[in-house]
Amino acid sequence: MSDDVYLRFENVAKHYGDVRAVDDVSIDVGREEFLTLLGASGSGKTTLLMTVAGFTVPDRGRIILDGEDITWLPPSLRNIGVVFQSYALFPHMTVSENVAYPLRVRKVPRRESEERTERALELVQLGGFGERMPSQLSGGQQQRVALARAVVFEPRLLLMDEPLGALDKKLREYMQLEIKQLQRQLRITVIYVTHDQSEALTMSDRIAIMNDGRFEQVGSPDSLYRTPANRFVADFIGETCFFRAVVEGTEGGLTAARAGGGTIRYPTDEPAETGREVELMVRPEAVRIAGPETSADNRLDGVVTEAIYLGELTRCHVRLGDGQRLVMKQQNMDGVPQIRPGDRVTVSWSVRDTRLVR
Ligand code: ADP
Ligand code: MG
Repeated sequence: MSDDVYLRFENVAKHYGDVRAVDDVSIDVGREEFLTLLGASGSGKTTLLMTVAGFTVPDRGRIILDGEDITWLPPSLRNIGVVFQSYALFPHMTVSENVAYPLRVRKVPRRESEERTERALELVQLGGFGERMPSQLSGGQQQRVALARAVVFEPRLLLMDEPLGALDKKLREYMQLEIKQLQRQLRITVIYVTHDQSEALTMSDRIAIMNDGRFEQVGSPDSLYRTPANRFVADFIGETCFFRAVVEGTEGGLTAARAGGGTIRYPTDEPAETGREVELMVRPEAVRIAGPETSADNRLDGVVTEAIYLGELTRCHVRLGDGQRLVMKQQNMDGVPQIRPGDRVTVSWSVRDTRLVR
């Protein structure tokens, strides 16, 4: 991915009556970037994607593709490939005829069309399937035909709206890697829509978290996980323990706060007001049953209320001294005794892994 802007959304908005499907979205997408719009159903992902495809015209704002304002350009003149969740293949056409369709529309000469169709089918591992009818293919194969059809005309951009939503988990995970590989081979810019966070984390250069028509945060998978901008993102990406705390004071870049029947500390840039109520978070995998005491750790006493054995790890709920609950994941290694409900434990985690929630 290079740094220059390839696709730009400028204050794009689309309302349906009172519903703000897309509410003032701006973002720059780099050439060859894989950007995922991640959000719950109804958050505006499809509406935003369709403004790029041209099937929806925004009420406000502009969309610039490779320096050209395409906001009002008809879809057929945009040269953009689209893949939907439903494969939308033509049932009465063979696989080859389906894939060749965009070339036919563009009046590509027959010989060239045949070559490009065959190459596109090979690209999605369906060489030799050209004469079949769509009904003779599995769901995964049909979706690969749709993918071949979306890239056969060398589009300027590839849009995908929950393309793997209809497939079972194993096939979905396999196809995620295939799509990534295809993107690298074709060096194409992709805007991908999903509501599945693990899919987004696996595939994306950057993820835009959508909620109520807006971006809550845009960033790399790693930065969203490690430095969520707010509670919504922290809750949406990965698992998070939140707890309430009352500030005691700030010193040396660390704020101390009463929580869970003890005192814990978290990194802060600015002094926090004593007595202020704050919300803190920690990821379950950062919490462990306390080892030897170190000053870099937060430590709290609690009682295990639930312990679920999951093979490589055990997921535990711990009730802290003040009644708040913490979830932790204990790695199951040789020599580590199993945790059981009712056990009294001291849990600890690094001060650095504690974050103030905004
Ligand atoms: P997502 O793809 O994230 O599930 P959508 O973009 O489909 O979300 O929808 C966002 C919001 O806009 C929803 O509340 C949806 O009901 C509404 N919406 C989408 N399309 C239309 C439409 N054509 N007419 C009226 N409301 C719509
Ligand atoms: Mg949708």
